[in-house]
Amino acid sequence: MSTVLNEVLAANTAYASDFGDKAKLPLPPGRRFAILTCMDARLDPAKYAGLAEGDAHVIRNAGGRASDDAIRSLVISYKLLGTREWFVIHHTDCGMQLFTDDVIAGLLDKSLETASIDAQGWHDHGQGPGSVHGHFVKWLTFDDLAGSVAADVARIRSHPLVPHSIPIYGYIYDVRSGRLQEVDEATRLGRAD
Ligand SMILES: [Zn+2]
Repeated sequence: MSTVLNEVLAANTAYASDFGDKAKLPLPPGRRFAILTCMDARLDPAKYAGLAEGDAHVIRNAGGRASDDAIRSLVISYKLLGTREWFVIHHTDCGMQLFTDDVIAGLLDKSLETASIDAQGWHDHGQGPGSVHGHFVKWLTFDDLAGSVAADVARIRSHPLVPHSIPIYGYIYDVRSGRLQEVDEATRLGRAD
């Protein structure tokens, strides 16, 4: 069995052995809010936002972008499970700023194996074959960090299935300090009315 698989199962055994009152948690998030954030391994929303089990919804994808699927989760979050405030939290040094749609599609053309990056850019080392399918995906990369937070808040705010009563806050998490920095433009765009 793989080392990671062993480690995960051992950690789960320890976690479940001290599960306690968490067995009685209700399904809807107790603090009635949701966070959309990046999958980056350095971000732990439970720690940076002070969450315990049962508190809030956390929706994660590459970049923390307001993709169709992120919006699907947010709509379920309020419509069926009662959240009332939402956060969009991107972060400094995000990997989504390191490539474009053309770059990843070109790498996937060559092979499906893991590429590497250096000062000259991305390089593919795989044997191939690759695939054309990368050209048909909108990868939701960005080059303006605050701009991407504002754009995602604006997209969610204007979505026809999102009620105007939900405030949407826009923040950037700093991977060097652990601090959240407000994106004023995003919060202004996300204001409830
Ligand atoms: Zn990221």
